[in-house]
Amino acid sequence: MEDVHRHLDQPSELIELNGYRQSILSRIGPLEPIPLGLLEAHGCVLAEDVTADTDVPPFTNSAMDGYAVRVQDTYASAELEIVAEAAAGSEPGFPIGAGEAVRIMTGAPIPPGADAIVPVEDADEYGNLVRLRVAAQHGKHIRPTGEDITAGETMLISGRRIGAADVGMLAAVGHTEVRVHPRPRVVVLATGDELLEPGEPNRPGAVRDANSYALTALARESGATAFRMPIVPDDHRQLQEAFEGALTQADLLVTTGGVSAGRYDYVKDVLAQLGDVRFSKVGMQPGMPQAFGFLGTVPCFGLPGNPVSAYVSFEVFVRPALRRMQGRTDLNRPRVTAILDDEMNSPMDKVSFLRVKLHREDGIWHARSAGLQGSGILRSVVEADGLAEIPVDRTSLFPGERVVVHLLVDAI
Ligand code: AMP
Ligand code: MG
Repeated sequence: MEDVHRHLDQPSELIELNGYRQSILSRIGPLEPIPLGLLEAHGCVLAEDVTADTDVPPFTNSAMDGYAVRVQDTYASAELEIVAEAAAGSEPGFPIGAGEAVRIMTGAPIPPGADAIVPVEDADEYGNLVRLRVAAQHGKHIRPTGEDITAGETMLISGRRIGAADVGMLAAVGHTEVRVHPRPRVVVLATGDELLEPGEPNRPGAVRDANSYALTALARESGATAFRMPIVPDDHRQLQEAFEGALTQADLLVTTGGVSAGRYDYVKDVLAQLGDVRFSKVGMQPGMPQAFGFLGTVPCFGLPGNPVSAYVSFEVFVRPALRRMQGRTDLNRPRVTAILDDEMNSPMDKVSFLRVKLHREDGIWHARSAGLQGSGILRSVVEADGLAEIPVDRTSLFPGERVVVHLLVDAI
């Protein structure tokens, strides 16, 4: 933190990437937990231990379609009288006596007195008699009360990310809501006089706004509820109005464009004027110009406008911030160590993130360039499996050297 501020007094100097990233993450915490319905809570991090208040299964029941019997009455070729039928959802019924059986379906309660199930496959029915092919074994094909979950048991621990199986288990014990860290509401805002909506007719000097779409999609992939706002021109007043409007509905604000050293890069000025947002030159490529700070209590990332700079900046700064807001402690995507197949270059004093394709050879990952590496080249982001990190103290890595690759997906 202190380091960052010292450097900020000399804006021409590059700030070391990891320190900068840490100083941002240390200022962001999990969102206040709220109760959410099970399906809304899916994917969120639990903010409480969850205890079962019922047994699962709630009563002893049959695991098979077949016959409920008393073990002592059974042997190969024994004939028992079918005295009743038990379907799933039926009440437990009358006790069975000597020489009796109940035709029973999977999930039906076991009649009192029965202590085994003979599956239909092991018996033949004649009128009201059933002839067994085998002797039954005590407790066979019976699911006892609480076999799965016992009332009073802690079944999910705070800090756990709720998966599909968890949702099922919560439903099974009758929970309708759980306390979780909510999905952050992210507002994404592209700025620039040259920007066009994808559906607008072309005009000279214009480019289509790719970033707000990619960033909104990235935020959604990161577990946020993300909204894209209309393009804002490079105009002080309109920027200010747009930011103020966005703030009313955001837990986190992401802007793109207007944080470089150009004449009309007003975003950093407007953000600095509205709140405690600072502009930095970070020792990374792509993505050197960065703005970060708070507008009131809302963290705000002012990302650069070059499409790949914005994309990589999201991966490096925004994704971990969004994960932390969701109560996650695994802030990073997986990374692998790979053997480099192509030479890769990086400017002095900057960490470079180069788009690479991965493949596995004899159990070892190899990385090769995913194409042109310019900060406007989206095609190589589309092609890439990950970002190869060239350390700050290297200007080249050569074929055969090891490189850390940050995956652009959550699993490989
Ligand atoms: P800036 O960061 O505003 O100086 O923009 C740097 C470069 O990125 C310029 O070539 C812009 O036209 C381009 N750019 C800025 N914003 C976007 C955007 N939302 N979509 C695509 N390109 C953009
Ligand atoms: Mg611009």
